[in-house]
Amino acid sequence: MNAFTCAVHEADPSALHARRIDTLMVNVGLRCDQACGHCHQSSSPDRTEVMSRDVMDAVARVADQVRPALVDITGGAPELNPDIGHLIGTVRGGGHAVRLRTNLTALLSAEATGLITYLAKNEVAILASVPMTPEAEVAAGRGPVFDRCLTALRLLAEAGFGSRPGPRLDIAVNPTQDAGPISQREIEAHFREELTGVRGITFDSVLVITNVPVGRYRESLRRGSNLDSYLRELREAFNPETLTHLSCRTCIEIAWDGTLWDCDFNLGHGVGLAPGMPSHVSEFDTSVLANRPVRFAEHCFACTALAGSG
Ligand code: SF4
Repeated sequence: MNAFTCAVHEADPSALHARRIDTLMVNVGLRCDQACGHCHQSSSPDRTEVMSRDVMDAVARVADQVRPALVDITGGAPELNPDIGHLIGTVRGGGHAVRLRTNLTALLSAEATGLITYLAKNEVAILASVPMTPEAEVAAGRGPVFDRCLTALRLLAEAGFGSRPGPRLDIAVNPTQDAGPISQREIEAHFREELTGVRGITFDSVLVITNVPVGRYRESLRRGSNLDSYLRELREAFNPETLTHLSCRTCIEIAWDGTLWDCDFNLGHGVGLAPGMPSHVSEFDTSVLANRPVRFAEHCFACTALAGSG
């Protein structure tokens, strides 16, 4: 048994299992216009994995069967899947709430022309990933993306996102690379000032997402000989009170090829569902999957640090 599973077993054995399926997370592909240092999917412009229309149609059928509270679309940059409009239109046509996770810069790409208007018309909520600060970007060698993020945020605001009666606009923040878990309150105050106070861009809330030591982020920690110390820091920040709210306990993920996973982090790390579980969207069985045992690993400590994440 790995250290995280032991910690859960000791704190709350009921948390070893999922409770229900409220969210269908759908990863439509790994292509991205950026190659961020914190990315747990190692996404980049060179990745070619992409969800087909056939898998999208199977996702819509599962949504009709499960009736989740949310279909949460992620990637890569979902905007770069040429059939993203098909997925959104089909799922929204079934009456399901949809959220799109975006790095913002992909909304400005040629592939995403007209997408902001389409998202607003279909009342799709947005969870936008924003770099902590421009200085952090420069330090991380990612180039000046902060200004392009602001441009996309302004376009979203003009389309009505982030202020009622428009769709929700939430901000997701990954702490600076190599930083450990940071308090939600500090970061929310920072973005209320930077975005609303200084620039007049309104939004609903800020989610702080602890960097999960998987994919490119794990490799960069390993290269800098920081992996062990980062894992230790996450372990020491373990908060048993977060176990009730672990997203994997109320969510299941469908990847671009139709395979099923406990969460996007497990997908990035290649940790499949528990043995004996249906493994593909074509075999989806809600009664089995809603109470499945979750496959935990050491990276799960990122979800239980401080106030929790993931
Ligand atoms: S990484 Fe995934 S499986 Fe592990 S605790 Fe977080 S959401 Fe659950």
